[in-house]
Amino acid sequence: MEKKLKATLKLLGELGFNELYYFGNTDNRDLQMENNKKHSIQKESPQNLPKEENLVVLQLKRLYEKNRDCCRCDLCKSRTQIVFYDGDPHSGVVFVGEAPGEEEDKQGKPFVGRAGQYLNKVLEKIGWNRKDIYITNVCKCRPPGNRKPLPKEMQTCLNVFLKNEIKIVKPKVICCLGATAAEAFLGKAVRITKMRGKFYVNPLFPNVKLFLTYHPAYILRNMREAKTFEEDLKILKEFVEKASE
Ligand code: SF4
Repeated sequence: MEKKLKATLKLLGELGFNELYYFGNTDNRDLQMENNKKHSIQKESPQNLPKEENLVVLQLKRLYEKNRDCCRCDLCKSRTQIVFYDGDPHSGVVFVGEAPGEEEDKQGKPFVGRAGQYLNKVLEKIGWNRKDIYITNVCKCRPPGNRKPLPKEMQTCLNVFLKNEIKIVKPKVICCLGATAAEAFLGKAVRITKMRGKFYVNPLFPNVKLFLTYHPAYILRNMREAKTFEEDLKILKEFVEKASE
């Protein structure tokens, strides 16, 4: 067989056929088309797409990558880095503070300074783990001298990050830590001592309740309110647990 093939090739060469192409028989071609079809189905099939929970992480990653060099407001001038989120992106609750402080700016994680450590302790005390909540700030960049972010800076950053985070995470409730975060959502001045401990309709996301409480940094300066803060978080925890049933 091999001898015959060699002789045929030699003869074809002498006749001037310098290049030969092998297309295989019809069966092989059909088989190959079938394989190609299977391969493309496999690539597109839903089971090969990321699972929904991984999709959430992926979408957050994309949001960060897209905006990691954001300079849409002046706060980019005073930051070391953008401070995105920490905790569980599949949580039923999103905690929101106003902006990163010095330690957060250094580490690139929200609520890792004294106030954050205090919050962790209170959460633990009421049986909640910091890892079970999603936590972030309205503004992702540290304001100079830790000043309060301006309304325009908050609105800009809400549009760049937080509104998109809420759309991706889809929590049951947003917990505003302090008046500044509450003002960013409600669009009006907030007296946190009067409005804390209650749920409100969220003008930005009507299907996601707003809950207001103190900022943990305020409690560190006013420890007489520590018990109230703890009680607020218990109310919130109960709501999240019921809403997740
Ligand atoms: S605070 Fe927000 S909007 Fe302003 S520069 Fe930082 S990431 Fe961009």
